[in-house]
Amino acid sequence: MTQNPFSNEFPIGRFSGCCAGCAAALQPGQVYYAVIWQQDEQYVRKDFDEKCWSEPPTDALGVWRAKVPLPASKTRPKHVPTKLLMSVFERLGETDGAAGSKLRFVLALLLLRRKLLRDGGLRDAEGVQLWHMRRPADQTEFDVVCPPLTAADTDELSQQLADLLAGLDEQVEVVE
Ligand SMILES: [Zn+2]
Repeated sequence: MTQNPFSNEFPIGRFSGCCAGCAAALQPGQVYYAVIWQQDEQYVRKDFDEKCWSEPPTDALGVWRAKVPLPASKTRPKHVPTKLLMSVFERLGETDGAAGSKLRFVLALLLLRRKLLRDGGLRDAEGVQLWHMRRPADQTEFDVVCPPLTAADTDELSQQLADLLAGLDEQVEVVE
């Protein structure tokens, strides 16, 4: 177990590299769409090439258009773009479920660290601890449920999110 599970934020992991529709390999530089769903307690990611893409599924947590990174870009230090994190954070706020609230909490910590959210203090609401946060960019307010989490949980969630967002880099566009 690492001392601080967020010391590396979410490093971008390996890119799986196949279209979920036709199983064709996605080539460096090729445009593709990444979709993330929440299924029960799990998060599922699928990538599609342009040929197999129609429109964003309505039940997706996030949809992004991106390009498969060129091999040269592997040496570049990468962070998951803030807008992806913020987009997933907001979508998770619209869903229920324990898995959602855990991941949302981990995202909130990250966004706080990047100063995209401001700490508005904790409060107790009928036995549930709520963490109030404000987004300085547009003054939007959020209440984040603080789930019972161990350090191992946050490690696992960080890894889960890194896997989901693998290969998406700074050129990514959120598909609404
Ligand atoms: Zn395909």
